[in-house]
Amino acid sequence: MAAVDAAIAAVDDVIDDARAELEALVRIPSISADPDHFADVRKSADATVELLRAHGLENVRTAGVEGSQPFVIGEWMHAGPDAPTVLLYAHHDVQPPGIVENWTSDPFEPEERDGRLYGRGAADDKAGGVAHAHAVSAWLTSTGTLPCNVRVLVEGEEEIGSPTLHAFLTSHLDELRADVLVLADAGNWKVGVPGLTYSLRGLAAVDIELRALDGPQHSGMSGGAIPDPVMALARVLSSLVDEHGDLAFEGGFEGLAEPAPKERAVIAGFDDAPERFARTLGVRPGVQLTGDPAVTLHERLWLRPCLTVIGIDGHPIKGSSNQIVARASARVSLRLGPGQDPDRVIANLRAHVERNVPWGLECTISALEGAPAWQTDPTGPAFDAARRALHAGFGVEPVLMGVGGSIPFVGPFADAFGGIPALLMGPDDPGSNIHGEDESLHLGDWRSLIRSEVYLLDELARVGR
Ligand SMILES: [Zn+2]
Repeated sequence: MAAVDAAIAAVDDVIDDARAELEALVRIPSISADPDHFADVRKSADATVELLRAHGLENVRTAGVEGSQPFVIGEWMHAGPDAPTVLLYAHHDVQPPGIVENWTSDPFEPEERDGRLYGRGAADDKAGGVAHAHAVSAWLTSTGTLPCNVRVLVEGEEEIGSPTLHAFLTSHLDELRADVLVLADAGNWKVGVPGLTYSLRGLAAVDIELRALDGPQHSGMSGGAIPDPVMALARVLSSLVDEHGDLAFEGGFEGLAEPAPKERAVIAGFDDAPERFARTLGVRPGVQLTGDPAVTLHERLWLRPCLTVIGIDGHPIKGSSNQIVARASARVSLRLGPGQDPDRVIANLRAHVERNVPWGLECTISALEGAPAWQTDPTGPAFDAARRALHAGFGVEPVLMGVGGSIPFVGPFADAFGGIPALLMGPDDPGSNIHGEDESLHLGDWRSLIRSEVYLLDELARVGR
């Protein structure tokens, strides 16, 4: 039996163990956005250390820099100097659960329904870390060796935009140096059809606060004369988009690179069933899709900027009374297309907001961390290796796809090692509802992903350094 076949057989032997390990990780609410859960982020880092150690990785430990959530790193470097070094990336932190009552089962108590495992982080991205551990383990338990040198990095703050990753990378460059980057934080085209992601949107965000008063005032005694900050905010926010929901402020599209005609044609080919897209995402009947209708759906989703209000503060309805609040604020998040500079677009948004604040309210705008879009040319030996590996693992040719989301560190990371190829795959599918309620992992595809990673290490070893 060829070595790779033995390793593949080993995946099937331990898939139930892998699932139990994943479930144990999902039970840890490692929410990096919530200080009340920082202890859980540390707990999930420690559990990830245990997991990687148990599966044969060496020098496994938590690491960090000033102010970071714990990263987990490990390695297996005995394939020799001529073998390539592969850096396997995942993250162990998760999004907050959102409205817990809207989950069918407890977000932090994994439950299987119809072949899917439900729980926060079940797909994004605890499944990625466990997949890496088992790809390594399958080789080590079956053959005693790995075809490549492997390093593993499991981040603890991806869900808050990787604020210290750059500093971490700079201070740990030698421990992470690799010839190719494999990220298990993206996903599949659909259930049963693997994806290889070559394009991610950029990210930018601002907090906008409008203030009218020293403190709240009686709406009967002052309403009609004192401006309402919530209404002022609503007017400002609505001026940011046009009737299609597209960015309407001057410079919102600044720098946007148009796709080449060939790429545009390929992307148009993905628009086979917009209704299915809407249905999969739970769009309510009668609700229209947004974005310029002259632009294809997947170009809108992958290659154009868009704006979302991800948080808004005035006064909660519960406990509200007849008063004009003193201040109102919103967190506005932007996804950016290729070529756009986050700082430039934020400066344009800031200028627009400042020009459009009604009634002279005080306006404070604070920019949050941003990152440009990332695109790579999905050709070359490493990509060919990944295509072959995914085909072998799933039994189906992978789809080269864009993703509307952002993984801010992919570009800088690949660049830090001299522009090494970055292979983005992962456990999600369009029904995974990552970041939403009832997040889930398709267990069959997850097994196929682990198998694909086993094949990938073999394929990359053949490609060499
Ligand atoms: Zn993720």
